[in-house]
Amino acid sequence: MNSEKKENAIDLSYHISDLARSRQTSPLKGLSKYMGRPGVISLAGGLPSAAYFPFSTISGEALVSESFPVSVAEQSSSLSWLWKIFGASSPSKEKTSHLSIPKYPSRPDEVNLSAALQYGTATGLPQLQGFLKDFVDRVYQPAYSDYTTLVHTGNTDGWSRVASTLCNPGEGILTEEWTYPSALASVAPVGIQAVPIAMDKEGMRSDSLRATLEQWDEKVRGIPRPHVMYTVPIGQNPSGATMGLSRKKEIYDICVEYDVIIVEDDPYFFLQEGQYIPKARRVPEVPSTTLDAESRYISSLAPSYLRIDYQGRVVRLDTFSKTIAPGSRLGWFTCNPVFAERLERAGEVSTQAPCGFGQSLITQLLINWKYDGYIRWLRGLGAQYKMRRDYFIDCLLDEFDVKPSVATEGCWTGCDVYVAFSKPPSQGSVMSEKSVALRKPLFSFVPPTSGMFVWLKIHFQSYPSYGDRDETLEMKLWVALAEAGVVLGPGWFFAADIEDSPDGARDGHFRISFSNAELDDLKKATQIFARIVGEFFDTS
Ligand code: PMP
Ligand code: PLP
Repeated sequence: MNSEKKENAIDLSYHISDLARSRQTSPLKGLSKYMGRPGVISLAGGLPSAAYFPFSTISGEALVSESFPVSVAEQSSSLSWLWKIFGASSPSKEKTSHLSIPKYPSRPDEVNLSAALQYGTATGLPQLQGFLKDFVDRVYQPAYSDYTTLVHTGNTDGWSRVASTLCNPGEGILTEEWTYPSALASVAPVGIQAVPIAMDKEGMRSDSLRATLEQWDEKVRGIPRPHVMYTVPIGQNPSGATMGLSRKKEIYDICVEYDVIIVEDDPYFFLQEGQYIPKARRVPEVPSTTLDAESRYISSLAPSYLRIDYQGRVVRLDTFSKTIAPGSRLGWFTCNPVFAERLERAGEVSTQAPCGFGQSLITQLLINWKYDGYIRWLRGLGAQYKMRRDYFIDCLLDEFDVKPSVATEGCWTGCDVYVAFSKPPSQGSVMSEKSVALRKPLFSFVPPTSGMFVWLKIHFQSYPSYGDRDETLEMKLWVALAEAGVVLGPGWFFAADIEDSPDGARDGHFRISFSNAELDDLKKATQIFARIVGEFFDTS
């Protein structure tokens, strides 16, 4: 596919941490290069004989890759269309294909348990390595030639390995001002602190990044200028923002200028839902069914940073958690070979290779589906999340009096913001005079364009008894909602800098996930939310 001549990665080895630099090859793993030689009798490793593995075969039924439609009209159950298509009334009739993994291979390249359940290198099954390399080449199209892929056990493991490979204690990492809490929790105990960068509808802002790096004063900040960035550019957690190519170019160029390594944690890449279009204006999509539909779909997605990474300064983290299942604990790095080698060394002394059961089942599934089938699966999945996003926002908007507006100031300039007010009293309904007179915004949000979350900003200045900043309003409302049966993600969880939260003096936030609940429960949750928010702003 990538026929143009590309350069190798530049030498960025000086970014490697003291810990990672001092790692030796795990002594026994270093022998592995001799193990595969024909005729070698290996008496070196403590390998149990495959004859003693109690599993003689593992098998499973997996959904076919075209199980979900590529465009979804409104529906009451995310699977209802499926039962219609297959003429079935229950999930037991869903269309599946059979996977079977024998203990011993009948062909040398067959996925088999005698290898998958045995000790091996931290690089995982060769068949999986082959699939991933081809997938990265075709989907992400890195801009340099010697990029390397390496399995890990999910992006949580991936990030923690990257952080210890690139950062020394006492350093900082650049992040979006609101970010994934576990990423910070994994580095905070070793004295690595987040350096928040302001965000807008596309995620991290390039002007704020430049200003932070340009004005860095080690004496004032107490830590050296960060040389590593942790970013979630698509389906940003918690905001749901999607970063397009031109913003990525701006940020990449700044990172070249200031010599920053970009760690792209991208679990939601295939959950790109596009702009939210209000129900009244939505028209059914006509999905492309042409022969090149899968490649046109790939070109329609916001690309990875890898696409513009001509130097090899991006470490991309992919995971099967959101595309197959979180319990698979499987994902992979794509990065320059020098970093990959150190990450492999870190893997050898922690997880070793990902679990052989999961690896072999997922590898066999991917082999059965083939590249086109997996892309077809991902398209269907994306359409499901888009349907859920639309459905949830439709329900939420139904409960409030909403003014779609374009933000004209601050970091949200020029994007669609939905501002929600209490509904004016309908005929016959009782509403306090106070709340009618109030007509102040209760909350606002920018509809997410990818991922699983809606990020609400709650305007506590509309609270009748609002005086000086009341730190506990967010928590009070959160508890009231939880008591009423709806549990949301409290905003403060996601603040990169808790001491100096970007909430400003008068706002709070909630992260609402639309990824998992039944559609009826999503509807019910918006009704409870509307009732509790109404009561909260109408009391005292
Ligand atoms: N500790 C000791 C003493 C061992 O001998 C071995 C395996 N040879 C291990 C740990 C590695 O264990 P595991 O496969 O559970 O990671
Ligand atoms: N990174 C981000 C930004 C996430 O939102 C999540 C899941 O919530 C993860 C990583 C966890 O990924 P994994 O299951 O691959 O460890």
